[in-house]
Amino acid sequence: MDRYDCVIVGAGPGGATFARKSALKGFKTLLIEKDAFPRNKVCGGGVTPAIRGLLDFDHRGVVERTVRGMTFLTRDEPEDHTWYPDGMAVDMVTRGEFDHHLVKQAVDAGTVLAEKTRVVSVRESTKNVTVLTDTGDEISAPIVVGADGARSIVAASAGLGRGYGGVALEAEIYPRDRSVLDEHGDKAVFGFGFIPRGYGWVFPKKDRFSVGIGTTRGHMPGLVSLYCQFRSRFDFLNEADEGERRGWFIPFCKDSGPMNTRRVCLIGDSAHLVDPFSGEGIYYAVLSAAIAAETVFEELQEKGRLSQRYTKEVKKRITKDYGYARWCFDIFYASPSFFYKKAKVIRALTRLSNKEIRYRDIFSELRRT
Ligand SMILES: Cc1cc2nc3c(=O)[nH]c(=O)nc-3n(C[C@H](O)[C@H](O)[C@H](O)COP(=O)(O)OP(=O)(O)OC[C@H]3O[C@@H](n4cnc5c(N)ncnc54)[C@H](O)[C@@H]3O)c2cc1C
Repeated sequence: MDRYDCVIVGAGPGGATFARKSALKGFKTLLIEKDAFPRNKVCGGGVTPAIRGLLDFDHRGVVERTVRGMTFLTRDEPEDHTWYPDGMAVDMVTRGEFDHHLVKQAVDAGTVLAEKTRVVSVRESTKNVTVLTDTGDEISAPIVVGADGARSIVAASAGLGRGYGGVALEAEIYPRDRSVLDEHGDKAVFGFGFIPRGYGWVFPKKDRFSVGIGTTRGHMPGLVSLYCQFRSRFDFLNEADEGERRGWFIPFCKDSGPMNTRRVCLIGDSAHLVDPFSGEGIYYAVLSAAIAAETVFEELQEKGRLSQRYTKEVKKRITKDYGYARWCFDIFYASPSFFYKKAKVIRALTRLSNKEIRYRDIFSELRRT
């Protein structure tokens, strides 16, 4: 049986970030990924620039566009509203390349990467965690980090599972006339009223648009037809080739239950850390990885096992504010067009996206002149 100081399951942004931090601390680190890189991930690929404050390397080489505008629309209203607010700058990435870049940084720091290896079970005992893979290998470590996404096998094995979350469907749409991208490539589009408790989006990339629709509901009959109705709203997507339509889960945070046991710790989607207002998950996967790296090794050295310190820290820095986010969701989604027509709301949304304010600050922000 191979032994490591730390095993991470899943090489998305959360897993790759934690692996790099672990290897940089000098720990013998193994990162296990079921796919081969560069692998695809169903995702809009919108990344807040605030992520730069969490990464100790430059990722701008994999940013395809930076959008500075937002268009809002509602299904039964004829008029769209486009804003170019001060300070708005959301980076657009292709997840295959973005995640591969992060994984390379983890490997450069000394992480051992096991690709095309699926973890099938995780067994925790008093002194160890044993990870079993589909290749029949058993690996043991004093700690295992579950970074294996919305359908986390690590969360389920550790008794920390919370279901799969909301659902979404997305496709990549390649316009035949590239000038369409010049015309519409500087803004992200958000459409309301096309799906209950959710929204549709059009995010521009280098050579295409990522078009999708998602809801916080865990079950949505007719998702494909809702997607088609949303897509048909945009004339500029008519003369275009559509790639495969793919669905996946968005584990919106619904509660702040435990995110770790004595030897297993969950980060990102496996811990259901997606922002319940916006659906943003990449930043929080990376932030939770950073919080885990700050807390778990210290605790292991001090006590030989984890307490609830990591969970408490995530609550304090992420999920406590999500209580206010859910509240904002209920208010905003009752009448999105009432809100997105107001400059103050757009300024608040921009500052939220940049992580300059939190949801709990929203009222004082709206009162500001
Ligand atoms: C349609 C859609 C659009 C989205 N758009 C955005 C957006 O624009 N911006 C944003 O910030 N967030 C977005 N999200 C959310 C975002 O994709 C996730 O929050 C983010 O990917 C979480 O990162 P992670 O590292 O926790 O998990 P993931 O990125 O899901 O990575 C998990 C990794 O674990 C691997 N894995 C899974 N099971 C196993 C196993 N048993 N053994 C080994 N490996 C395993 C997977 O192959 C994967 O590589 C979107 C989500 C969806 C579904």
